[in-house]
This record gives sequence, C-alpha cells and structure tokens, in this order.
Amino acid sequence: LLINPPLDCPICDQGGECDLQDQAMAYGVDFSRYREPKRAVDDLDLGPLVETHMTRCISCTRCVRFTTEVAGIAQMGQTGRGEDAEITSYLGETLDSNLQGNIIDLCPVGALVSKPYAFTARPWELAKTETIDVMDALGSNIRVDTKGREVMRILPRNHDGVNEEWISDKTRFVWDGLRRQRLDRPYIRENGKLRAATWGEALELAAQKIKGADKLAGLVGDLVPVEAAFALKQLVEGQGGNVECRTDGARLPAGNRSGYVGNVAIEELDTAKEFVLIGTNPAIEAPVLNARIRKAWINGANVTLVGPAANLTYEYSHAGTGRDALSKVKAGEDAIVIVGQSALNEADGAAVLAAAQAISGRVLVLHSAAGRVGAMDAGCTTEGGMEAAIDGADVIYNLGADEIDIQAGPFVIYQGSHGDRGAHRADVILPGAAYPEEQGLFVNTEGRPQLALRASFPPGEAKENWAILRALSGEMGQALPYDSLIQLRKALVAEVPHLSKIDQVVENQWQPLPEGKLGKADFRLTMRDFYLTNPIARASELMAELSANAKTRHQAPVAAE
Ligand code: SF4
Repeated sequence: LLINPPLDCPICDQGGECDLQDQAMAYGVDFSRYREPKRAVDDLDLGPLVETHMTRCISCTRCVRFTTEVAGIAQMGQTGRGEDAEITSYLGETLDSNLQGNIIDLCPVGALVSKPYAFTARPWELAKTETIDVMDALGSNIRVDTKGREVMRILPRNHDGVNEEWISDKTRFVWDGLRRQRLDRPYIRENGKLRAATWGEALELAAQKIKGADKLAGLVGDLVPVEAAFALKQLVEGQGGNVECRTDGARLPAGNRSGYVGNVAIEELDTAKEFVLIGTNPAIEAPVLNARIRKAWINGANVTLVGPAANLTYEYSHAGTGRDALSKVKAGEDAIVIVGQSALNEADGAAVLAAAQAISGRVLVLHSAAGRVGAMDAGCTTEGGMEAAIDGADVIYNLGADEIDIQAGPFVIYQGSHGDRGAHRADVILPGAAYPEEQGLFVNTEGRPQLALRASFPPGEAKENWAILRALSGEMGQALPYDSLIQLRKALVAEVPHLSKIDQVVENQWQPLPEGKLGKADFRLTMRDFYLTNPIARASELMAELSANAKTRHQAPVAAE
C-alpha cells in the first residue's frame, strides 16, 4: 500500500503534519525505486466536514475503527482485497455522527482532511494557543490555531480526565461563527431603533440607568467566564440588585456543590458497571462524554434511561419517560446517575434531583452551559431562582444570556459578542469578547476549574468582558476593587478558594436534598438541535447547514423512498 500514495505533499493539506511525510523525512529517502503504475481510487462524499482524497489512503483502517467503536456508527468500512482494498462509506452515505471530525486528526496521511479549512493555511503559519472549549459543559481541551487575528481551525488536546483526544464537531468547526454577526461597537436604542454609539455614551447611559433602578437584575449567560460573572455579581449586588445564572430555570441548589455538580469525576465513567440517565440525551448534550459511556457499555456496563427515548449509540433499557419511572429504577450502590438539565428546569426540579440522589450515592449533574458551574461557584444565584430575580425588575443587565426571552418593560443592557436574541431585546449594547478572545476560568460539569487562554482579539471596539464591567463601575463612581485580571482573580479566589485548584476535580461533600413532591409530567428534552445551542453556533453558516442536514436525515422517509 505504501507504494501507492501519490507525491501530493505540495498540494496536500496534511503537508507539515503528515505521519507518512515524517517517516520519509526520517529515513531520508528522496527518490522512489517503484516504477509501476500507481492505483487511483475515487473520492467519497462524506458531507460538509470531511474532505476525502482516497488515492492517498494507506488503508490503516483507523477511521473505520473510530467511527465503529468510538462514535458508534456503522457507516464506514473496507471493501475488496489487496490492491483493490478501498475504504468506503455504506451505500455512499454521508456520515451521521457529531464526532466525525475526529477522523481528520487520526488519518495519518492526507486522505481525510478538513473541508472548511481546506487550502486556507499551512501548519507552520499558524499561532497555536492551548485553551478550553465552551460549546458544551465538558470543558474539552482544545488548541486554537490563528493566522493574524482570524481563528483558522480548532483541534483537540489530549486530556484523559476530560475529553481524552476527541472533540465534537460543534467544538471543532464552530469557528466561522466567530467571524459573523459580531457586535463590534456599542449601540443605543433610540426611537425603537439601535444606533451606533461611542463607549463613553453607552457606558454613561448604562451607569445612569443602573443607578436609577428600583430593582436591578443581572443575568449571567451560558458562555460567561467566572471572572466576568463574579464582577457582574459584585456590581449588581453593590446596587442592591440580584444576579442569576440559572436562566433556563434549572432548580440547581445554590451553595450545595454536591447538588449542582455531583460527586463523580468524568474519568470514573470508564470503569462504571451501571448507569442511570435521567432526562438527558448525552449524545447531543455532551457527545464526547457520551462516547465514554459507550466505552463503558462496550466493556459490559448496563445503561437505564428515564426520559424520552433517543439514539445514544448504545443499547439501554428504557424505564419510562415520566417521573413515575424514577421510583421503578433499581440500581446498585455503585451505579452512576447522570441527570440532565431538562430534568431540573420544571417546578419539581429539586424533587427530581433528590430522587436521583436517592437512586445511588454517585451523581453527575450533566450541564449544558459551559459557564454555569463557575457562575454557581461564584454565587450568582438568587433565592427563588430566575423568576424571583427578574420579577418586577425595571433594569436588567444581561451578560450574554441569549437563550431567554425578556418581556417588554424593563430597560435592558446587553453585554455580549454576537447579534443574537439578547442584542435584539437590548436598549444598550456593550460589545464583549467571545471565548477565544479573552482569558477566563471555566468550571466544567464535573467541577474542574480550567484556564482558557486568549488566542485572538475581539473585533472592532469590543472589549474583554470583565474590563467592560470594571469600566462601567468606574462610570458609576463605585469602581470595583481591581484594575487587572490578576487582581480580580485574587479577589475571586479569596471568596471561592477551590477555584485556584486549576485542573483538579474538587471533592464535594455529599449533601443529599430532602425528598420533594414529584410532578406527573413526562420528561421533555429542551436541547433538540445539537448544532445551534449558542449565539456563536447560530452565527455559523456551517452549523446551520449541519443542522438542516440532520433534520432532513431524521425525517421519516416518504412513499417511494
Ligand atoms: Fe485511509 Fe486515512 Fe482511513 Fe487510514 S484513516 S484507512 S489512511 S482514510
């Protein structure tokens, strides 16, 4: 097979990071003794993410093993023998997995390369920054490659405790969303229309409204780093207002970390023998974590699901879709119970969490928002939750909460990176950085604080999120007591000491919730579309295409089909 790869290096995207090229370099062979004709193979259409050049394939079958064993789809295989051996997809289908981008990394040659990144840069031109993903709450370790100010691609970094060496397609390909729909200057709404404004005007108006508020509410969005959430809390509470990060209404118990995080590390999933999933579809809420559950299932673990049936890529026994099924689940003491946010965001959320804790003493609360655990740690909660926080508020400071509708009435100050739902309902817009454009702490779903580093810069006049809040507090004449991110972190760690334990899973003291009254309704999954869960993803053309493709694929076939 090694006779056949064409000498494509000058036009191959794998050039500079190709195992075969490295081997040839290592052996120092600059000519070939083979004079025989080389074989040629037709390329496959695997969809909008993976471009194929199958003539370069050396039939290592890594891609087949990954898709079959890790991603759990049976769409790739090898046909033929000897020189006729070919990697192909079943009936020429495109791949139906949200982990498929990983085959680009594991293909040792340039047979599978990234379609969106094709021919845009060479590896040695790129600045590489090691940071943390925010597309889900897993906190996958990633490397962001930039050319100038532009993010050109996102790759996984190995972290055995978190994402192993995989990332989801949303994490990998969302970068085109960082270039579109950006808020690059402040805006003020006048006569019902937003007009461009200067920072001075926008901050002055925001400060005046905050100081004149009867009831001020601060909302912390899903992608907000802990530092910005903490600065917002100090600013809003300094004015006698309330902050809230549980914007989806999740009944997560404030102050009880074993309640809102759980007590299971992601690494423990590998060796578990039994899982109970409650109101969650981890295949779309955290696909890489789902691959770990699948790994345990391959090794003999049993999985029970309470909630709507879904394709999880492994078999499970379905205990029911309603809350009544919770009492029927019988699991061993060592079973790991994974509770999704959809199970907790109705009125009986606390009772569901208590029932989950009663099933076994090992619970992992599966978050879907990257900033949620950090904001809970920083104490961005209000007694009575989201309803109490915004009820009667006449001024709302919306720090990147784009998944909610704010009713007409209150004056809304929106701080965020994209022109999404939050910006549409804003009276003042303060443009902030997106996740690769500022440093920040994120605490993942198992409670592990991780440091995200800056890979590029916010566009136009947009600024880092904590710095906007600091500038606004200065405008109000009540400056927050820090002038740099380091000082802010010192203040934060003084209040929440465990946030200094970077990359460690802090052990939480087990504090079971009191039993509550469960409702009668069925569990409903709130996250339906994996590809469009946040403003960055919604700004991405590629995510829109993937979302549309997934919908078409899962529609019931009609008549003649
Ligand atoms: Fe061919 Fe690449 Fe798949 Fe290996 S990983 S079989 S080289 S396409």
